[in-house]
Amino acid sequence: MRVVLAQPRGFCAGVERAIEIVERALAKFGPPIYVRHEIVHNRHVVDDLRQRGAVFVDELSEVPEGAITVFSAHGVARKVQDAAAERGLPVIDATCPLVAKVHAEGRRYATQEREIGQIPGKVHLVQTVAEVASLQVGTPDRLAYITQTTLSVDDTRGIIAALKARFPGIVGPDVRDICYATQNRQQAVRDLAGQVDVILVVGSRNSSNSNRLREIGAELGKPSYLIDDAGALRPEWFAGMGSVGVTAGASAPEVLVQGVLEGLRRIAEIDVSTLAGVPEDVRFRLPAEVADA
Ligand code: SF4
Repeated sequence: MRVVLAQPRGFCAGVERAIEIVERALAKFGPPIYVRHEIVHNRHVVDDLRQRGAVFVDELSEVPEGAITVFSAHGVARKVQDAAAERGLPVIDATCPLVAKVHAEGRRYATQEREIGQIPGKVHLVQTVAEVASLQVGTPDRLAYITQTTLSVDDTRGIIAALKARFPGIVGPDVRDICYATQNRQQAVRDLAGQVDVILVVGSRNSSNSNRLREIGAELGKPSYLIDDAGALRPEWFAGMGSVGVTAGASAPEVLVQGVLEGLRRIAEIDVSTLAGVPEDVRFRLPAEVADA
């Protein structure tokens, strides 16, 4: 069976930075390091850091007084930041800079008294074109939109077009805020779909960008499966298939992809190649608290 690896795949710069922040915090301050929510949406990464002394909590109230607290890569609401500041918790913020940029953009629109999402003021979550039609807004001529960084580029274009058709005065970033890593991984899975019979996406169920990769494979007519690791492989998926494409969401470590290749080797003899893809050299600066750790 031919196996084609997508390129790029797996870790993005925001995920690498977030994991490195927890690792450096553990090395510099010693365990326990409290992390609000999963540092990135991957079970293996979270389990590994937990073993090394990270304590993952759902709410800030679970963090003891004075304990080092890391905010995860997906960012936190203003009120969580405020609550941490009120308690004087020493916070290290692992929010991906590209997510932080979208939050700042949202706040800017809000100060212009436009209705948006996730920001102080009036907020509407729009997930489909159909939801645009049923949207009830108070001030149709003072609207703005922002996008999550990990959406499907194609679906988002459709939703923005529907918003603009219904609300001609709406302002927003088009699809620019869907991050470079999401866009590159989506393009790679489109390339993959043209070359293989079945697609495997390594990633966790709660990873937005991994789910989008699986959906794109399926939309392009290829059976596509989202798997946490090699343990989820089913030999029947490959019956009669000559080729398999493998990619990984932005929060899935490469070691899991290599594990999947091992798993495939147990099912059939495989011949592995890698797509050319676009090179990525994005790196984000570490926060000052751990830059020297
Ligand atoms: S997927 Fe994009 S926005 Fe999310 S952490 Fe990675 S680089 Fe940042």
